[in-house]
Amino acid sequence: MTQIIGAPSKYIQGNGELSKLGLYCSQLGAKGAYAIVDPFIFSLYGEEITRSFEANSIVLVQEEFGGECSMEQVERMVSAALAAVSSGVIVGIGGGKTLDTAKAVSHFAGLPVVVVPTVASTDAPCSALSVLYTEDGRLDRYLPLRRSPDVVIADVDVIAKAPPRLLAAGMGDALSTYYEARACRSSGAVTQAGGSSSIAAFTLAKACRDTLLADGADALRDCREGTGSEAVGRIVEANIYLSGIGFESGGLAAAHAIHNGLTLLEECRHVLHGEKVAFATLAQLMLEQAPAEEIEEVIAFSRMAGLPVTLSELGLNNAQEERLMIAAEASCAADNPMGNMPFAVSPQQVLDAILAADRRGQQAP
Ligand SMILES: [Zn+2]
Repeated sequence: MTQIIGAPSKYIQGNGELSKLGLYCSQLGAKGAYAIVDPFIFSLYGEEITRSFEANSIVLVQEEFGGECSMEQVERMVSAALAAVSSGVIVGIGGGKTLDTAKAVSHFAGLPVVVVPTVASTDAPCSALSVLYTEDGRLDRYLPLRRSPDVVIADVDVIAKAPPRLLAAGMGDALSTYYEARACRSSGAVTQAGGSSSIAAFTLAKACRDTLLADGADALRDCREGTGSEAVGRIVEANIYLSGIGFESGGLAAAHAIHNGLTLLEECRHVLHGEKVAFATLAQLMLEQAPAEEIEEVIAFSRMAGLPVTLSELGLNNAQEERLMIAAEASCAADNPMGNMPFAVSPQQVLDAILAADRRGQQAP
């Protein structure tokens, strides 16, 4: 049995870390940096970023990320980066699409990448994967990367100032990690990292759930005030690192398979990734006939965080069963991780689990 753990070479987290970005790039031996930056972050922190590179004598080329994480944009930036900073580093500062673009540019340019998430809304920053879209915003393909990011830097102060809904969505994405890793451990599934689960990956997944339950409420309260408190720090670590390694090396199962199915339904397109995953986690527990206390715990957590526990909260108010069956069937397709469950799952069972989750959610106080 081959066990594989994938992780960034270095994970840095703290308050005010963005101002040390130049230093961390110089530690990689970079003489130049090609930074892909969200426009909003650019306007807020552009000067601070520039100063930190100047202080470390690194030539900085900043590219405002405006479009899509598409192959066209990636190819354009690979040429620009190689022309500007041949012995340098690619830096991504922003949300998911900016980071995925930076990771893809690094992959094709053969340069190291430093990833700076400014929100903690998914477990993407640490992963060796970029999701590519077409220029008009439709899913193009998943691009597996040769390696995990070289450095991931999470500045708790910056993330605490992002909208609380994004932190809550990250908690929804992180919530599924333990239950999916547990399913993969009992089925012996091959994870995204390419091997079977390990003590390390499963331990991180469990620590992820325990941290969410312990600190989630305090972190959301502090995030509403924009304070980068210790509780926010612990949730940032759970959402980005524990869940990132936990999902990639511990494995995905029904929750993400059902999420992927739900993305086909127009009605819940406005619902964030982690919000759909939270509901899908509840559906996975119904599928597994998990103990009642565990189901109650997940519902109570989701309620506290404002994550959906009913179909109407997903925008599927009057969803007909045939609409839900589209999602259920897609969730069982070969390219979705439903096959990682320890038992065979049919679309009808998924539909029943979704409806059962909705009923339980509706009963919740
Ligand atoms: Zn996810």
